[in-house]
Amino acid sequence: MTNEIKNKIQPIIANFSVTRHILKRFNLRASKRLGQNFLIDKSVVDDIVNAAEIEADENILEIGPGIGTLTQGLLEVGANVTAVELDKKLPAVLAETLNGYENFKLIQGDILKVDINDIMNNQPFKVVANLPYYITSQIILTLLEKKLPITKLVTMVQREVAERMVATPENLAIAKESAKTYGALSVAVQFYTEPQIAFDVPPASFLPSPDVTSSVIVCNVRKSPAVAVNDEKFFFRVVRGAFGQRRKTLLNSLIGAGFNRETILTALKKANIEPTCRAEMLSLADFAAISNFLSQSDAD
Ligand code: SAM
Repeated sequence: MTNEIKNKIQPIIANFSVTRHILKRFNLRASKRLGQNFLIDKSVVDDIVNAAEIEADENILEIGPGIGTLTQGLLEVGANVTAVELDKKLPAVLAETLNGYENFKLIQGDILKVDINDIMNNQPFKVVANLPYYITSQIILTLLEKKLPITKLVTMVQREVAERMVATPENLAIAKESAKTYGALSVAVQFYTEPQIAFDVPPASFLPSPDVTSSVIVCNVRKSPAVAVNDEKFFFRVVRGAFGQRRKTLLNSLIGAGFNRETILTALKKANIEPTCRAEMLSLADFAAISNFLSQSDAD
């Protein structure tokens, strides 16, 4: 479905003058603490909505609607939008800027604390959001690890975070920088989803402008995780432990994470992985093998 506007109810918010007018009218200042950078570029809103491939009446969870900029784009294509906004000053603003859109529901609260299944009525949904940058990774990991019925995540994040989400150990041969970008976030995102950077967004598309370039990343959620693991919690304990001390060898990082030296050596031998290698050289399948053998030995 295209996001051509047919029955525009309110003026387009994604515009410098309109945004400035709304902030002034409500005597608001964008809060740095809450990661408020409002979109002022209508074409970026359209591109995000298109990337989400929204069907009419589809359920969307938006995190941080702000003054309703992206929300309006989603509502205009007929999505049912449930938005969670932490800032207590914004419900009054949204009541006005999105007045007339019936398919909008606002929850004032912290996305890390609300019962998401409950607010989404236990129905499948997509996540579409221009995320607050101070807790991007935490939000993405929370959404994925809660095993919610999410089919797709389309999120605006800092370019650097998007790169970490798609980084793989194979990149190591191409760019030394990947050694820094491939980490626990990459493994978690790729374990649950197939992520792809859709496009970059320059600082000038926001008010106020952030210091860095942003990217919109599309993560299609897999029907089942990318690799088979006996125990997901244990798998992530191993992954976090392995990346915990980047300069150390895998053996020492895992010892540092509380695993027994002999147990690790046995598991690594079974998985055919050198104890002296580093976490950033390991694929998801390697982590799965280590975790499965380690949990077996732990149980022995
Ligand atoms: N969606 C708007 C846009 O695109 O212009 C605003 C995006 S702004 C980058 C991030 C929004 O997330 C802000 O409105 C901020 O108040 C909100 N926010 C910050 N922390 C939050 C949290 N823990 N839960 C829900 N919303 C949060």
